[in-house]
Amino acid sequence: MSANFSHRFGESSVAREARGRGRGGAPRRRARKAWLLTFFGDGVRAKCRWCSSVLDRHSLTADRYPVAGIDGGTYRHGNIVPACRTCNETGVGRKRLLKTLALILGSGKVLV
Ligand SMILES: [Zn+2]
Repeated sequence: MSANFSHRFGESSVAREARGRGRGGAPRRRARKAWLLTFFGDGVRAKCRWCSSVLDRHSLTADRYPVAGIDGGTYRHGNIVPACRTCNETGVGRKRLLKTLALILGSGKVLV
């Protein structure tokens, strides 16, 4: 991994937002996919976080989770997981999170 690669991801979210809507251009999307494939997979393939289908750099999309885009989530490390296009577009992650939260709240357990 080049120094340039880590430098780009070390950029503050403020700087990133100033450059656009936080999504970035094609080079940034490619870098993000490469990071997801490396962090969640073997560098070439990774599984969809939601349906476990095997993804490569063409089919992989960056799903913002746990804070979804609709909730103001950004594409920073720690808030992106690999997802197939279908799961990403149907918001599976957000639905699961909300369901989990509802279950936890309904159980009366106190979360730290
Ligand atoms: Zn999927």
